Amino acid sequence: MAITLYNTATRSKEEFVPQDGKTAKIYCCGPTVYHYAHIGNLRTYIFEDLLRRSLAYHGFDAKHVVNITDVGHLTSDADEGEDKMEKGAKRTGKSVWEVAAFYTDAFMRDFHSLNLLEPTVWCRATDHIAEQIALVKTLEEKGYTYRTSDGIYYDSSKFERYGDFARLDLENLWAGSRISMGEKRLPTDFALWKFSPKDVKRQMEWDSPWGVGFPGWHIECSAMAMKHLGETLDIHCGGTDHVRVHHTNEIAQSEAATGKTFSRFWMHGEFLRLDGDKMSKSTGEFLTVDSLVKRGFSPMDYRYFALGSHYRNYLSFSFESLESARKSRLALRKRTTPLVAKALAAGAKIESEAALKWKERFAQAVGDDLNVPAALGLLHSAVRDDAVSEEERGALVLDFDRVLGLKLDLEEEAAPAAAEDSEAAEIDSLVAERAAAKKAKDFARADEIRNALAKRGIELKDGPQGTTWERKR
Ligand SMILES: [Zn+2]
Repeated sequence: MAITLYNTATRSKEEFVPQDGKTAKIYCCGPTVYHYAHIGNLRTYIFEDLLRRSLAYHGFDAKHVVNITDVGHLTSDADEGEDKMEKGAKRTGKSVWEVAAFYTDAFMRDFHSLNLLEPTVWCRATDHIAEQIALVKTLEEKGYTYRTSDGIYYDSSKFERYGDFARLDLENLWAGSRISMGEKRLPTDFALWKFSPKDVKRQMEWDSPWGVGFPGWHIECSAMAMKHLGETLDIHCGGTDHVRVHHTNEIAQSEAATGKTFSRFWMHGEFLRLDGDKMSKSTGEFLTVDSLVKRGFSPMDYRYFALGSHYRNYLSFSFESLESARKSRLALRKRTTPLVAKALAAGAKIESEAALKWKERFAQAVGDDLNVPAALGLLHSAVRDDAVSEEERGALVLDFDRVLGLKLDLEEEAAPAAAEDSEAAEIDSLVAERAAAKKAKDFARADEIRNALAKRGIELKDGPQGTTWERKR
């Protein structure tokens, strides 16, 4: 079964197969580590995780590279303003390197708390200065650069296709631009290498053939992507806000340097919107995973919430909608946990016609440009389908969770109070079933139940009055 993905480059859904038929080379723009990650940024990483898991479900491996921007990202896209990292250092009173290390760690914690698959490579911009300088040199040799008093710039007029990717109306953009350009020749030109200001000692700066300074943000991604994945990627991802400037510039630099297509597919995740004034007025807070946890939510509630909307649609966030996602997720777990336990105990496989049909529909949904909301709906329906045995339904849950990543295979967090009663009732019934099996001398089944419960952290104690059980974790 094929998987189709919406390609921003062509504005259409296309069937995806990696260049080598097997392993997708994926590059995702990573965080600028000068602050905590907002939950809106994290939505993009959830989308990229769903992409990777959906590709795996359709039989493709991935070499997945995510960068850490720890230098060169200015507060303005117009090559002006402060370096966000140096600004972060001033704000916190720490060194730039300390700021980068601190917020990189924080980002990794958030990343893992959302059950996102570990990339094959994490790469830091400051570890790839030599590659960035080499790429700028190539562009210089090919006549795509010019020098001003504050840096080396990319001459966007030399790259004919510059406006194609973002469908830019360049004539208008150039004529109508009122932003201050400094010595730039065109508003769409951008810095490849910036010189350190003469009067200020930057904490991060390097020697280069052009003078001491630091790389531009866009060149970092091109240099790192090509170093780790080669000159043509299979898929390049990021947020929709990157289309007009950052990704347009990545394409201009990379394709001018190599003469090859930089990425076959481009995929962009849509924004998270904070629900109206209500939220910003009442809380005004910068929403992070930690701030959700402090309000009693699990990071998995946020993941589940994000799964409910297609990655190319806006997602409107409010605490009310997060709360209803939480309830829905817990209700789902309440239903899936006993099924999963039975599937594990029985070593169940998906083999009946009815179960295979569910699997096929699921594969179709995720293969249709990652229609995860539909896939999630299929999970909710499949676990209710009496035509499929409970063991096999449990096997479907485990299979679907390879894409959804909701940790449905684990007991995970402490069972919430509402779910706890029904779980206790379910354990009681398994204990009773085991007693009956022992009485019938079906010791294999009795042991199976004991082992399945042990896996869930439930310990049984046999005594003269019958069997009691307790939770060990
Ligand atoms: Zn990037």
